[in-house]
Amino acid sequence: MSQKINAIRGFNDILPADTGRWAEVEAVLRDLMRSYGYHEIRLPIVESTSLFKRAIGEVTDIVEKEMYTFSDQGERPESLTLRPEGTAGCVRACLENSLTYNQTQRLWYTGPMFRYEKPQKGRYRQFHQFGVEAFGMQGPDIDAELILLTARLWRDLGLQHVVRLEMNSLGELAERARFKEALTAYLEQRRAELDEDSQRRLATNPLRILDSKDAGTQAVLRDAPQLPDFLDAESCQHFAEVCAVLDAAGVAYTVNPRLVRGLDYYNKTVFEWVTDELGSQGAVCAGGRYDGLIEQLGGQASSAVGFAIGLERLLLLHAVVHEKTATSEADVFLAAVGEGTSRVALLLAETLRTTLPDLRVLVNCGGGSFKSQFKKADKSGARFALVLGEDEVKNGTVSLKWLREEHEQLSLAQNAVAGFLKEQHTL
Ligand code: ATP
Ligand code: MG
Repeated sequence: MSQKINAIRGFNDILPADTGRWAEVEAVLRDLMRSYGYHEIRLPIVESTSLFKRAIGEVTDIVEKEMYTFSDQGERPESLTLRPEGTAGCVRACLENSLTYNQTQRLWYTGPMFRYEKPQKGRYRQFHQFGVEAFGMQGPDIDAELILLTARLWRDLGLQHVVRLEMNSLGELAERARFKEALTAYLEQRRAELDEDSQRRLATNPLRILDSKDAGTQAVLRDAPQLPDFLDAESCQHFAEVCAVLDAAGVAYTVNPRLVRGLDYYNKTVFEWVTDELGSQGAVCAGGRYDGLIEQLGGQASSAVGFAIGLERLLLLHAVVHEKTATSEADVFLAAVGEGTSRVALLLAETLRTTLPDLRVLVNCGGGSFKSQFKKADKSGARFALVLGEDEVKNGTVSLKWLREEHEQLSLAQNAVAGFLKEQHTL
């Protein structure tokens, strides 16, 4: 026997037992987008490496150590990267197609992202994000809309009790520069207590230290200067207005002055929805404003705000909260027992599907005894079994049995089955 080839570590199959839940959550997301007037955009999975370097920043975990970068077989091979996130590609596509020039856009996308990280529960190398981006709107109203939209999503999914909202304002570049100076001066004094990564970041990107998960570093940060103290009036007012909308709408949140987000391009509002149900992989949804990015990628300066949801984490959370509900895979199971019956069964099933487009019909393929076919019928969760034996085929009839209710078995003409099922279906 040949040796089996397995999936790559961190790259998961989503198996049939789980795809039903995925489809359910995806349908809720799609409906939600429709009800807020957002449009889907579909983007490539591979982009120029330079796009991510420029958008995300050279001194970030993603660019420093998490990207899947390769070159193809071109004559002058360009460095290519499997997208680690969706925002950079979305902005690139909008600029390339003039979607943000003097106009607003409300967009969403979903699909796989790739990061070379240590795989564990809720953290994979291929994972899926659902992302939303809104371009060309500079006021706090759109920030608030995005947060209201996510709050509604948790309600629609019945998850509102297991997620909480954290918010912060990063201010503008100049405000952050002043804060950065104060933070660096403070951390320099306690350099020895920081973890290795953070010591290195002190020189390259000190703000990212606030994001450190190291306990020693966290302790040092407790007495560090706080970003909100460095914001000017405009940033404070923008943030206050976002908070005021949430207060008025009854969306609870806490202000976390150490929330900085992993990526460099954010300004003003940042937010994260976190859960305690998934261990240390608690961030389910993360987002914020990133007004500088469009210009940074060569476009005419324009405002931008967005968020991304990690779908694996959302699905894990959904599974924790909503235990598996047994769903049936068919309404009707069609059993065929005996010579020449299976061809008639396939054709009868075709007729039923044409006549009753909503009906789910599962045909027994591969033969088997009456008893084994009935076992399959029961397992399918179908309400009815239709049985075609040699006699039925001869007479142009079919036997109908109720699988979930007490009723006498019926014999029906094959051309009367659709009508009968239609009646039953609307009961
Ligand atoms: P974390 O702090 O958990 O590493 P992050 O700051 O890297 O998250 P973002 O880049 O903001 O995450 O991505 C948005 C969301 O995508 C996260 O909140 C999370 O739900 C999900 N996510 C990020 N990385 C992974 C991964 N490797 N596997 C699964 N989901 C992920
Ligand atoms: Mg990360």
